[in-house]
Amino acid sequence: MTATIIDGKAFALGLRERVAGEVARFTAAIGRKPGLAVVLVGDDPASAVYVRSKHKATVAAGMESFEHRLPADTSQDVLLALVDRLNADASVDGILVQLPLPPQIDERAVITRIDPDKDVDGFHPVNAGRLASGLAGFVPCTPLGCLMLLKDQRADLAGLDAVVVGRSNIVGKPMAALLLKESCTVTIAHSKTHDLSSVVRRADIVVAAVGRPQMIKGDWIKPGALVIDVGINRTEDGLVGDVDFDSAASVAGAITPVPGGVGPMTIACLMHNTLVSAARAEGFALDEDAL
Ligand code: NDP
Repeated sequence: MTATIIDGKAFALGLRERVAGEVARFTAAIGRKPGLAVVLVGDDPASAVYVRSKHKATVAAGMESFEHRLPADTSQDVLLALVDRLNADASVDGILVQLPLPPQIDERAVITRIDPDKDVDGFHPVNAGRLASGLAGFVPCTPLGCLMLLKDQRADLAGLDAVVVGRSNIVGKPMAALLLKESCTVTIAHSKTHDLSSVVRRADIVVAAVGRPQMIKGDWIKPGALVIDVGINRTEDGLVGDVDFDSAASVAGAITPVPGGVGPMTIACLMHNTLVSAARAEGFALDEDAL
């Protein structure tokens, strides 16, 4: 193995500590804690686990956690009314509606109802537009975490060839926008891309967000490339990423493992975004260098 293994768990822990430090400064100066409201509809076990970890991380960061659990048969109107209340509540800086939602509820309708200035998940089309236009908004947590890991490896990404495999609204597209902002030359690949292995082979940075176990092989990777594996795939052998870790790690310059790479960054970035939202709401100057 030649690659540096990027320790996302350790980086996320450090980020959470730095966020907690700024939360303490905010709370002392403003007289209230930043607040994150998480809404869970139904009893999907995976969603319940995510909501519990978000609650724990919020409290550990010194922020207020507001949990709203609604039954699986909740109507869209009832959920939208809750979102309206949270939008109007000055103690709530961030609103997160855990996806997926039950079939009677239109996810788009709910996401677009959230005040874009409290949309700490960064899924609202206004925030997607802000990111695309270079305006301040909220960047979805997973790609934001990927960018932080990349910049920790190499502070200046300008001019590098970046290939993002996957074009979802929550990972691929915002990731590509962030890399473009860093002045990378960005290619977005997807299921219709011809000769994917050749496209990936020219990349100095590969971000894999596909959802196909170990699809990207070591002989697709340019020697020395930075490889970020967003994929989380449950297989008989446990959790694996979209990259074939063993073969890729013998070629890449640095690579994230699964688990312990990108995964822990997502919640850490949610804490980061909630703090940023509170600071904007109160006109509080964050120490950006501390974050
Ligand atoms: P989506 O299913 O929304 O998107 C997958 C993308 O991969 C699509 O754009 C699709 O292309 C593309 N794709 C599918 N098959 C191929 C193929 N054979 N070749 C090239 N491209 C292909 O997934 P998400 O973006 O939501 O998630 C991607 C992965 O990341 C999943 O494993 C998910 O579990 C994981 N994830 C991890 C997170 C974390 O915290 N670490 C957070 C979010 C996601 P097309 O558009 O043409 O269909």
